[in-house]
Amino acid sequence: MRKFIFLLLFIVSSEIYANIIKVTILGSGTPRVSFERFSQSILIEHKEDKYLFDAGRGALIRLYQSNVLPNEIKNIFFTHLHSDHVLGFSDILMTGWVYHRDSPLKIYGPEGTQNFVDSMLKAYQDDINVRSQAPENLDIAGLQTNVKTIYDGFSYQNNGLTIESFAVKHEPFTHAFGFKIYNSKYCIVISGDTTYSDTVIKKAKGCDLLVHEIAHASEHTLKKYPKAKGVISYHTNAVEVADIINKSRPRLTILNHVLSLDGSSDDEILNIIKQNTKHDVLIANDLMTIDIKDDIYIYKQKNL
Ligand SMILES: [Zn+2]
Ligand SMILES: [Zn+2]
Repeated sequence: MRKFIFLLLFIVSSEIYANIIKVTILGSGTPRVSFERFSQSILIEHKEDKYLFDAGRGALIRLYQSNVLPNEIKNIFFTHLHSDHVLGFSDILMTGWVYHRDSPLKIYGPEGTQNFVDSMLKAYQDDINVRSQAPENLDIAGLQTNVKTIYDGFSYQNNGLTIESFAVKHEPFTHAFGFKIYNSKYCIVISGDTTYSDTVIKKAKGCDLLVHEIAHASEHTLKKYPKAKGVISYHTNAVEVADIINKSRPRLTILNHVLSLDGSSDDEILNIIKQNTKHDVLIANDLMTIDIKDDIYIYKQKNL
C-alpha cells in the first residue's frame, strides 16, 4: 500500500512538474540605458527546452545570471525589430558559437528578420574567418541559422508546447507581434510592444499570465512635450492596461517594458493601475522569475 502511495505521489508530482512553465524577465526596460533595467528579453522554459522572446541589450549577461550558458539558446522569437528588442542578438549568435553551439540557431521573427540575421553574419565576417581557422578551429556548423518569418496566426509546436503569434498595433512598425504560449494546462501571453489591443484581450482571456508593456506620462508632460505624446501613442498607458486586465482577467499580470516619461516611480504607476483594477498586477524587474503552475510562484534569480 505504501509503495502504491509513493508511486502515485511520484506520478502526480512528475505530472505537475512536467507542465510547469517558467518565465524569467531578463530585461524589463526600454531603449533607455539603465543598470537595473536592460532592454527587452524574456526567457521561457518548458520541460528541458528554452525559448527566448526578444534579445535586447545585455540579454546574454542576464541569461548567464539565470544560469543559462550562451550555447543553450537554440530558439529565439522576435516580437518586432525595434533595436531595444534585438540589440543583444549578435552576442548570443556569436558567443553561442564560441561556446560550441551544437545545432542551428532557430530564429522566428517578422518580415525583415532574415535580412537582419544575414547582415549580422556579414558584419562579423572577419571574426568568423579568424575563429574558424587554427588555432581556434571553431566548427562553422555552430553558426548555422534557420530563420522562419512569422505572421498573424503563425503556430509552432514542440514537446507539448504551442507558441502562436498574433498581430498587434505598434505603428509605424507594420510587422509587430504578440505571442500566446501554452501547454495542456497553462497559458501565457506576451503583448510585445503595442497600443491598446482587442486581440491581446481576446488571447489573454482565462490565461495564467499576461506580460504586458506599460508606458506612462502625466497630462502635464504630454501637453508640454509633443515628442512624449508621440512615443505614448504607440504604447499602452496605465488606464488602458487596467482596462485590458479587467476584460481579460488573467490570474496574474506582469507589466514589462516599463517606460516612465515623467519620472513617476513604479509604485506611482502601479497605484494608477490599482485604482482601476482589482486583479493581481505587478511591475517587472530584471531577473524576476515566475513559475506558472497551480500556485503561481514568483522569485528573483540570485545572481544579480
Ligand atoms: Zn517597439
Ligand atoms: Zn520596445
